[in-house]
This record gives sequence, C-alpha cells and structure tokens, in this order.
Amino acid sequence: QSKRSGRNTARVFEHEMQSELDDRNWLEKALHDAIRDHQLTLHYQIQVDAEDRPIGAEALLRWFHPDRGAIPPAAFIPLAEETGLIEPIGRWVLATACRQLAAWARQDAMRGLTLAVNISARQFESDSFVDDILAEIRRTGAPADKLKLEVTESLAIGDVQSSSRKLHTLRDHGFSISLDDFGTGNSSLNYLTKLPLTQLKIDKSFVDELPASHRDAMVAQTIINMGRGLGLDVIAEGVETTAQRDFLVAQGCYSFQGYLFGKPVPVGEFEAQVRAAVMAAEAQ
Ligand code: C2E
Ligand code: MG
Ligand code: MG
Ligand code: MG
Repeated sequence: QSKRSGRNTARVFEHEMQSELDDRNWLEKALHDAIRDHQLTLHYQIQVDAEDRPIGAEALLRWFHPDRGAIPPAAFIPLAEETGLIEPIGRWVLATACRQLAAWARQDAMRGLTLAVNISARQFESDSFVDDILAEIRRTGAPADKLKLEVTESLAIGDVQSSSRKLHTLRDHGFSISLDDFGTGNSSLNYLTKLPLTQLKIDKSFVDELPASHRDAMVAQTIINMGRGLGLDVIAEGVETTAQRDFLVAQGCYSFQGYLFGKPVPVGEFEAQVRAAVMAAEAQ
C-alpha cells in the first residue's frame, strides 16, 4: 500500500517537474522570439506630487504573446535574468524609453516629466551598461537629466565598490538613481547610504496597510525620515487610497505612484492622463 502510493507520488512529482521544465523551455524560446517579433511594449504609470500634479512616469514592460495573450513581468523577468535574455530586453527598454523622452522634450505638456526605467542587477553588471545608455542618449537626443534608473538593493550585495563607481559615472552624466522596492531586499544600510542615490522608493508592501497598521506606519515614517535626512527624494509606490496618500503626506512624503492616480497604460493614454491632470490641478 505505502509502496504503491509512494510510487504514485513520485510519478505525480515527476510529471509536475516535467511540465515545469516544458514551461520554462517554452517560455525561454518564446521570450527569445518576443524580442525579434516585436511583442514587447512599454506601458507608462503616472507619478504625481502632493498637489496631484504629474511629475513623471515609470516605464513598465508588457509582453503580449499572439497565442497566450498578456504575460506579466513577474512571470518572465526572473527567467530573463537567469538566461541572460534580460540584456537584449533591457537594451530594448532603454532605447524605447530614450526615444519616448526625446519625443516628450518636444511637447509642452510632457517636457518636464521624468521617466523611470527598471534596471535589473544583471543588466547593470554588464561591462557595456554605461556606454549603452550614453549611446542611446546621443542617438535619440533624450535629456539625460529626465532619465531615472531604478535599481534594487541587490546591487549592494555584489561588488559594492564597482557598483558605486558605475553609479557615480551615471550621476556625473546627469541621470537620477532611484532605489526601488526599498526595504524588501537584504542589504546593509551602511552600503546603501554610500551609494550615490537620488531617490528612495517605498515598496508597496509597506504602503498596503497604511494607516491602520502601526508597524507599517513606523516603517514608512522611518524610511521617509531617513531619506530626507540623507537628502534623497522619497516616493511611495502602490498607493491606492486617499487615506494612504494623506498619511504619507503628513509624514513628509510628497511623491506618489499607484492605482489611485493611474494604472500603467499605453503611451497615448498616458499623455491624455497627464493633460487631464494638469488641467484639473490648474482648475483648483
Ligand atoms: P516595480 O518596478 O516595483 O513596479 C511596480 C509594480 O507595481 C508594477 O507591476 C505596477 O504595475 C504595480 N503597481 C503600481 N501601482 C500599483 C497599485 O496601486 N496597486 C497594485 N496592485 N499594483 C501597483 P508590473 O508592471 O507587473 O511589474 C512588476 C515588476 O516587474 C516591476 O516591479 C519590476 O521589478 C519588473 N519590471 C517591469 N518592467 C521591467 C523592465 O522593463 N525591466 C526590468 N528589469 N524589470 C521590469
Ligand atoms: Mg520599478
Ligand atoms: Mg517597485
Ligand atoms: Mg515593487
């Protein structure tokens, strides 16, 4: 009895492993084709100040597969990082974002906005990373001071000195550096405070239960105070309610991103959102 159920369990397990492998293989090949077949696009999520005025956007990758439909970043970014496909994908994202920034520089309503782009650790570690960005800036004519690079705490786990040197070079060229998902990784505050950052991004997980959760309120308050003390801009992500926004404002956080202000949308829709938000803020 026990022998048979053991064998069945093993078979089920094998079956699951196989389908997981097929899935990964399928995903890897499909992702490879996705770049070639232009299945990737960027969506833009609005960022606002405490008066609801648009201040920028975060570019978020979207993959629409012809048979399987929309595949969310969480389902393919980790694999893209493991396989190295994140490097060509990341280059495509940066090129597209720079082209968009250059186009916005020619429009009155859009010119002042910053554009944040997610940079994965593996992409950042590539030897050609800085040169690739500079080449895109030159090629597109995008304003470097409007491009914000979102990095994560995992940068501080690797070679801190080399990461810091690279970030300094990027800062010297006018780029901003935002630390995404702050507080969710495992890194030392000692390292973090030595990196030439310009912004801390409070992770959605610390925003979700504001203002009711005392613990999260303390964490948010501490991040805001630390960021301000270090002379950094602080933005909260995943803001969905006015109660969350008001609490954050009271603690001294004046930049926001979240469904309360807008979901990530295609560029035309984003531009319409910005125009509407500017008009609404002016009417107040
Ligand atoms: P992230 O950089 O922390 O981006 C924020 C995520 O939170 C986005 O998910 C966004 O759609 C979602 N979000 C923003 N506001 C709200 C809200 O109010 N409520 C809820 N429920 N969600 C909100 P998304 O687009 O699925 O991206 C997930 C992650 O995938 C990103 O997290 C980022 O780590 C990664 N990613 C996305 N695009 C890129 C890219 O171009 N390159 C790299 N390397 N990673 C990317
Ligand atoms: Mg991000
Ligand atoms: Mg984030
Ligand atoms: Mg996040």
